[in-house]
Parts: sequence; structure tokens; C-alpha cells
Amino acid sequence: MQKDLVLLGFDVGGTKLGIGLGTSSGRILDGWRMANVNTRPEEVLPRIAAEARRMVEKQGLRMEDVAAFGISAPFPADAKRGIMLDPPNNPLWRNVPILEYLSDALKIPGAFENDANSAALAEWFFGAGKGCENMVYLTMSTGIGGGIIASGRLIRGGAALSAGEIGHLCVQVGGRKCSCGQEGCYEAYCGGRAVALRMREELSGKPESMIMRLAGGDPEKVDMIVLEKAVRANDPYALALWDEIALRNAQAMGMLINMLNPEKLILGTLAWAVGDLYTDPVKKYLPRFCWKEPREACAIVSSALKREISSCAGIAAALNYLNESEGPAGRGE
Ligand SMILES: [Zn+2]
Repeated sequence: MQKDLVLLGFDVGGTKLGIGLGTSSGRILDGWRMANVNTRPEEVLPRIAAEARRMVEKQGLRMEDVAAFGISAPFPADAKRGIMLDPPNNPLWRNVPILEYLSDALKIPGAFENDANSAALAEWFFGAGKGCENMVYLTMSTGIGGGIIASGRLIRGGAALSAGEIGHLCVQVGGRKCSCGQEGCYEAYCGGRAVALRMREELSGKPESMIMRLAGGDPEKVDMIVLEKAVRANDPYALALWDEIALRNAQAMGMLINMLNPEKLILGTLAWAVGDLYTDPVKKYLPRFCWKEPREACAIVSSALKREISSCAGIAAALNYLNESEGPAGRGE
């Protein structure tokens, strides 16, 4: 049996910051969170280093007993050097060399991954992707981020460090404008934020529509949750939009299946929150977009970690760092 290594994970979100202490077999020993809105990195970094030390000591361990730490942080970031560049909702965290800071403070090896890659690693090591050689994780949240495991390795970096940006595959030439500046991106059709903006646009001046009524007449409250309710109530506008979302999902997922031939496509947030109503229509459209053999070999499943994924993401980044630097020493069970 392989040794169960102790790992630290830091999850730096747009609004929250969490620390997890866990093991390479996926046991969570302790967790800590704080709100991360309008915070200054020069105050927060010493605080999280101190918290991490406290958590390690509480387990009767010393920092030297922790094999590595991992940081899961939002795009955009310089993952190679471990610098947060301009995280959403947190302008004070621009150009923060968080990897260097924590390496100096904790004096243990560490790694930095973007949050979608970290989540993919968490599903791979501890969740629905256990044992897969090839899998893709899609965040299916406000945006569409992805992490690709191919031939037993996380795909990252690339010539311009943009590998794995699945949300910006073009699914419609000259299509809807995406927040990235391109037209017709997958995210512009299926990302939660883009869908909400589209509904607000299309339903403005239509207070009688079911979606506006479900949102209490407040366009700001129009979101995927409201859309799901309207779909369940068979509202024609909602059904048509839902159908288009499924078609676009199938189109992008079909590309991934043909290109990567994964054993599993693991879907985050919306897929597990909504369930079969979300995934069944996607499966129905999939034969239009990919070959039969790779399609039949690929299971489309929801995240197994669900809400817990953020507490495992930094820990998974730490474990992957050890595996990549030393071979598969501490992987999974
Ligand atoms: Zn885009």
C-alpha cells in the first residue's frame, strides 16, 4: 500500500478563500475559509500562512510532515510562475506572486494551478474520474472552464499558456459575442452568465413572460435557476432556449469526444444541480457531433465531489505536483 501523504490546499476564489488539509487518499483532515472581498494580499497572505501552520499543528504534525501544498486560483494567472494576474471581483489581487510567498513562508514545495485544472485533478484523484487515463472536466458554472487529463497527464501550458480553454471553442461562426472578444464561443451559449444576459436582453420589455414573472419582475434575478424552473413548467421560450443550450453543449462535447476520446466527460455545477434534465438532451444531440465508437466509449457523468470540489482542488494540485515531479508516488488510493 502506498503511503498516505499529508497535503495542504489553498483555494483562492473570487469571493472566498479556503485552506484544506488533507491526504493523498482524499481524506480531509481540516478546513478553513474566509471571505475574500476587498481584501489586501499583504494582509491576507501572512494570515493564511499562519492559519495553515495552525491547522498542521492541530493535527500534531510539523510543517515538514506536509509533502506539498497546492494553490487553486482563478484565471487569468501566470501558472508557470504562480502569479495571480487580475482575478475577477478582486482588483487588489493584481500581480500577486502567491506561489513564491507561500513557498518562502511554509518552506515546503508547492504548485499553482488554475481553478478549472485543479477541479479536474480533484475529480481525477478523488471523484468521478478515479482510474481514468483520459477524462475531461467541465465547470458548467457562470463560465465554462475545463481541465483535460490525456494519457494520464494534465494538459496545461502550451505555446501561449492557453491550453485547455474549452469554453472558447467556436460553436457558431459569427455567433453571439463572448466576453473574451471572440464571436460564437461555447461559453457565450452555455455559460451561466452569458445565458442570464441573453435572457435579460431578449425579455426586456416583456414583464408578462414566465421567466420575468418567476424573477419577480427583476431582470437582475433572471438566471439559470429561474430558467430551469420555467423549463420544468413547460414555458415555450424556456424550452426553446434549453434546447439550444443542449445542442451547443453537444456540439462542444462532441468536439472533445472526437479529439480526445475520453473515458469520461465529468460535468460540474449545473449538471449536478439540475440533474438529468440538463444532461439527457445533450446526450440526445451528441450523435450529430461525434463518431459512434468514441461516443459509446465515453460516459457523461456529473461531478462526484459536487460542492466539496473546492475544498479538494488545492490538495489535488499539490498531489499532481508530487506525481509529476516524482512519478506516481502518492496517486489516489
Ligand atoms: Zn470566448
